[in-house]
Amino acid sequence: MDILINSLYTQKEIFLRELISNAADALDKIRFLSVKNPEILGDKTELAIRIEINTEEKSVSVTDSGIGMSKNDLISNLGTIAKSGTTQFIEAIKGGNVNLIGQFGVGFYSCFLAGQKVTVASKNTDDDQYIWESQAAHSFAVSKDPRGNTLGRGTQVTIHLKQDAVEFAEESTIKELIKKYSEFINFPIYLKVTREVSKQVEEEPEQQQDQQENTDDDEVKKATKTIKEKVSEWVQINENKAIWLRPKEEISDDDYKKFYKVLSKNSGEDPFNWVHFKAEGEVEFTSLIYIPKRAPSDMFDNYYGKQTTILISEEFEDILPRYLSFVKGVIDSDELPLNVNRETLQQLKMLKVISRKIVKKILELFQDAASYDDEDEEDTEEEQQRLKDEKRKKKIDDMERISNWGVIEDSSNRQKLAELTRWYSSKNATELTSFDDYIERAKPGQDSIYYLAGENKEQLLSSPIIQGLLKKGYEVLLLEDPVDEFTFQHLNEYKQKKLTNVGKGDFKQPEDNDEQRKKQKALKKVFQPLTDWWRKLLSENVDSVIISQRLIDDPIIVVSSESGYSANMERISKAQAYSSKAGSQQFGKKIVEINPNHQAIQELLQRVKDDPDQETEEMAKVLYEAALVNSGYSIPNPEKFASRFYKLFNSALGIDRRCSSQRI
Ligand code: ADP
Repeated sequence: MDILINSLYTQKEIFLRELISNAADALDKIRFLSVKNPEILGDKTELAIRIEINTEEKSVSVTDSGIGMSKNDLISNLGTIAKSGTTQFIEAIKGGNVNLIGQFGVGFYSCFLAGQKVTVASKNTDDDQYIWESQAAHSFAVSKDPRGNTLGRGTQVTIHLKQDAVEFAEESTIKELIKKYSEFINFPIYLKVTREVSKQVEEEPEQQQDQQENTDDDEVKKATKTIKEKVSEWVQINENKAIWLRPKEEISDDDYKKFYKVLSKNSGEDPFNWVHFKAEGEVEFTSLIYIPKRAPSDMFDNYYGKQTTILISEEFEDILPRYLSFVKGVIDSDELPLNVNRETLQQLKMLKVISRKIVKKILELFQDAASYDDEDEEDTEEEQQRLKDEKRKKKIDDMERISNWGVIEDSSNRQKLAELTRWYSSKNATELTSFDDYIERAKPGQDSIYYLAGENKEQLLSSPIIQGLLKKGYEVLLLEDPVDEFTFQHLNEYKQKKLTNVGKGDFKQPEDNDEQRKKQKALKKVFQPLTDWWRKLLSENVDSVIISQRLIDDPIIVVSSESGYSANMERISKAQAYSSKAGSQQFGKKIVEINPNHQAIQELLQRVKDDPDQETEEMAKVLYEAALVNSGYSIPNPEKFASRFYKLFNSALGIDRRCSSQRI
């Protein structure tokens, strides 16, 4: 507490901001309940904040007709500063950043910046009126209010000012502060002001009689006199029309940014962009939606384990899909009958309409942020490039991952989101590229977008699987995030180009012509003895052995069948505990592609034709296992692989197996 007070010593005034904000929250809560159950308001239908100064006692009080606190609430909500997160807060606050106080949920304690004693009287519908009182926050006492229920409902916080804070007992000071801190409070805030008024009072009766014969006009004047009197009255200080209900023309960018700060409890960053619109038609609503500059750093950790962010209240959590959960905003509609069970069909339909319209607006903002085509046609090429680069830099952080998840989750906006995704590619493994840019660079007649997924792009770039394609001038997208391959599977195609996983299936050369097909057929026949023999040898794990059209330097590669798991998926699944014990069957059988131009393959063919011995079998197995690793898979039985390898190694060196281990 002392650290708090010392760090924020020069910013005592924020106590009023925190009290107003708490009062507004409490009012929001009761308003929300009253939509479902209007009776809850009882006689006290006015929802407002009233602030009063007592100049003699040097105190200031903030009263709201909000939800109020029961005895237990008072104890648990205001009871202790040692709530979770407080230690971090104390560390953070040493820097003197007042914005943190609200974020850490200890705003109430700012009362003690200005107050030596704080008294809270509160009345919640479920309890009697109670008083919480504390001197310098060292300890507190809670007791039943001897005055009974004076509030009706709500909370009154009274700050008994310290000697060095008596300026807050001045009307002008408090008035300015209310103005400063109430801009986005949607409840009226009244201040009790005292002013001198001139008042006309009747004169003494004798005097009136003396003047009896005068004209009627004169009679009034002469029968009264003017005196000065002090009167107190409640004056509303804030303009309480919600910003989203005000006409757009009247709202400056600055106002929007200020409201974003209030909404997001963000310590200082401006939003990336916002959209403010009124929807008409099936459901009428007004909405002001902000796109933050970045998604929270932990949004993608344990992605499915988290609750989505809530708009206005829990009731709206299904308005935004999970991948947009970092977006902040307000939806205001008179049409949603919250007092009816929200499961009713009608209501679900309305929510769906609202959701659809809002997502559409958000994606428009995303698209605007990602598109380059608003440049001036007249610009030189360099100028256009510069603009492109600039725009690329100005994008929302993590846009790629957000749209990645979007493609998976949001089938109705899948293509739109796909336009926003960005990938590494064999053309440029350091900068991200879009599908559209890929298509622009594609070879004439190329009807696929090629991709390969794996652990990292460097490894993928040197994978034997893509060497043939690269040599022929094709571009291959390199996916290194575990979620990427899921995204591609959900998308399946982009602008009529099939997304082809080159690590899967029987890969056909893109520009196959008749002559090549004939050649391929001939090769197939020549190598048939080897392919048949090899398939039988590996039948447990391999579906087919085929002649490859894409191998350059390597003798063989292993790929997954069309319906099986790719090497990458297999790796990811194995990394997850639940499938670690699963047999290789679960992932589907593999396809072995052999390189007909490779000497090792030709030699093997010869040996198989001659009559394959034990050693040929061992070699064929080792070759397969080495290729498994090279293609991104793991070896099912590493110990068998090792022993086979040593055997071959020894025989190559001419060492007899039995005496291969000798003391020297
Ligand atoms: P925060 O408002 O960030 O949660 P505070 O320290 O300001 O942290 O307040 C703690 C809690 O006390 C609030 O969450 C709320 O439950 C309760 N509270 C504070 N002021 C009021 C009020 N005027 N009416 C009802 N409850 C209140």
